[in-house]
Order: sequence, then C-alpha cells, then structure tokens
Amino acid sequence: MPSRPPRSRTNLYGLGRPGLRRFFEEAGAAPYHADQAFRWLYRLDRLDPSAWTDLPLALRSRILDGARVEEGSIDDRAEAADGTVKCRIALAEGDAVETVLLVQSGRATLCLSTQVGCALGCRFCLTGRMGFLRNLGPGEIVGQVALAKRERALGDGPFNVVLMGMGEPLRNYDAVIEAFRLLTDPEGFGLSHRRITLSTAGLAPEIERLAREPRRPRLAVSLNATTDGIRDRLMPINRRFPIARLREACRVFARETGDGFTFEYVLLAGVNDSDADIARLARIARAHPAKLNLIPFNPVPGQLDFRPTARERTIEIRDRLAAMDVRVAIRWSRGTEARAACGQLAVERGPSSPRAGRGSAPAHGRRP
Ligand code: SAH
Ligand code: SF4
Repeated sequence: MPSRPPRSRTNLYGLGRPGLRRFFEEAGAAPYHADQAFRWLYRLDRLDPSAWTDLPLALRSRILDGARVEEGSIDDRAEAADGTVKCRIALAEGDAVETVLLVQSGRATLCLSTQVGCALGCRFCLTGRMGFLRNLGPGEIVGQVALAKRERALGDGPFNVVLMGMGEPLRNYDAVIEAFRLLTDPEGFGLSHRRITLSTAGLAPEIERLAREPRRPRLAVSLNATTDGIRDRLMPINRRFPIARLREACRVFARETGDGFTFEYVLLAGVNDSDADIARLARIARAHPAKLNLIPFNPVPGQLDFRPTARERTIEIRDRLAAMDVRVAIRWSRGTEARAACGQLAVERGPSSPRAGRGSAPAHGRRP
C-alpha cells in the first residue's frame, strides 16, 4: 500500500463475524458481504480489499476509504539448528511480541503470545520480569498465525497452536476466545479446536468460565510447585488462588467438559525437584485426569536465583513418576540457541540494535 491509512480508521483485521457485520451494516452493505470479507481475511489471507473480487467495486472503495486492514510484520527472526524459528513481530498498533515456530518429527507447533509482557510476575519467567504493557487484540493473536503461515518452516500440513508465548491468556479472556473462534471457524483458519492449547498460570475463576464455553481450547495448567509455600514464592498469583483453589477449578473443568488436561512443571534445581516434591507431584497428578509435562528450566539472562535440574535427574524424575502411574513426558526445550523455547520469549534486543528505539517492547524487554 502506498501510504498508511490513519490509525483512527477501524482495523478490520481481527474483527470476528459480528464486528464485520456491524462495520458493513454501517457502510450500508448487505450482511453477507461481511462473511465474504471474513473469508478473504482469515481463510484466504488476502488483506488488500481491492483484491476482494466477489465484492462490488464501489463497496471495495468504500472499505478502502473507511477502514484499514493491518496485521503486524515479522521484523526479526532467529533460526536454531533444529529448525525452531523465533519471530519478533512488530504489531501494527505498536509494540512487539514473539512467536515461536517449533517443528518436531514433521509436526509444526506455533507458540503464540497473548499479551505484551505479563502482570503475573512469576520469578523464573522473563516475560514476567518485563511487567505488563498491554493486551493483544484478537487480530494481533491470529495475525501471528497468518504471518507464521507465510514462513517456509510451517509447511502446508496441519499444525498445532499453543497459547504459551508472552502473557497470561486468561487475563485477556475475551480477545483470546475471539481469536480461538477465528482460528477454528471453517471459513477462517479452519483449525480443529483439539489442536489449540491454552496454558495458564492458574486463574481459577477463568478456568471455570472456560469450562462453560460451548467450545474451547485444550487446557494446560502451570503448576510448577506442590506446596503453597514454594508456589507463593515462584508464582505470586498463588497467593490469590492457592493450590487447593486451583485444583478445585481443575476438577470443575474436567467435570463440566469431560476433557482431561495437562499440568506443566518447570524443574528448578533445589527448589521444586526433591524426592518429597516428586512424591507430592505424583499424588496431585494422579488425583486428576491429567497428563504431566516436565519442562527443563531455560535460564533467564541475568537471573541467578534459579538453575535447571540436571539432565540425569530430570530423566530420573520422569522415570519415577512413570513408575508411580503418572502419564508424564519431558518437554525438552528446543531451539535454545535461538532463545526460542516456549515460555522464554525474550524480547532482548539491546541498544545496539538498529530498531531498538522503535515501539516500546525493546525498552521493556531489554536485558537488565
Ligand atoms: N502465562 C501462561 C502461558 C505463558 S508461560 C502460563 O504461565 O502458563 C508458558 C509456560 O512457560 C509456563 O508453563 C511457564 O511455567 C513456562 N516458563 C516460563 N518461564 C520459563 C523458563 N524460564 N523456562 C522454562 N519454562 C518457563
Ligand atoms: Fe506470566 Fe506465564 Fe510468565 Fe507467569 S509464567 S509471568 S503467568 S507468562
């Protein structure tokens, strides 16, 4: 596009069917044109309204006059030897987030951000240390998929989506649900809802709200500790929703949906990986219809408080848990040399970067 349309115009990218219908109604157009636009935006990935050939020409020029269609753009990418790609996405409305594309045995998984930064301040998490900047809109969430789809590594096959990037998805509930609708709509991205997983630090009321949605992503709960003493220290949100309250929400989720879920457990040497921790972890995991993912800690730059559990101990813990009838797997971090592991989406461009002054993310994400 020759020049950028003014920000004051509605950004059509990210509007769902109801939002598009409202826009077209206000433009004096028939509602089915909104559905055509929906398909162009999310199914066909054509963002230029002048190419929306099944809409009348006059309507297309009215759209061009009254709206804009803007998603972000990938302004940096780092690729690891194993094919993991980390993309830094400059958002159309300002700021930047990261999207990680992991490819494992031919299967691609996209790790999406839902907020710029995060307010929950978990001690082991780089995003938590950034603090909270703002929520992403639905278009900014699904835009990460559209941009990644254009990356060679995603291929044409089916892929999974995990909401495990920057931010706490249940703190941005409405936008995340709208994004989920855009992703699963057959006229949108057409993804199966079984391929989408939402990871939460444990907002109990929102987990229960999610359980009542007619359709919802799979659930992953970041447990990370087995006593309130340890969890309070690692994850301040535990003071509001302690383990018993969180487990109650997990029970509600399983009961209302009939679905199992996943516990995630980041292993931190000397903090949550003792034999007593593992025994408690087994008791908790077995008491729910839950799988358990052990996540090796990805050291956070400048953060000396935590060390990863040794590889041999990690394997021993996995084997012990399996022997105690827990369905357990280790999620080895991939792409660490690209700083690309899910859950450690460092926005770490330093002042030497040519673009460091643009947007607000670099200032917040800069290494201390
Ligand atoms: N806010 C959500 C989703 C984003 S974090 C949540 O907390 O679940 C996604 C996952 O990454 C969480 O399980 C979190 O515990 C984990 N994580 C955060 N920092 C990490 C690190 N430095 N190394 C390994 N995993 C980390
Ligand atoms: Fe936020 Fe999740 Fe990081 Fe905690 S682990 S600070 S909830 S992104």
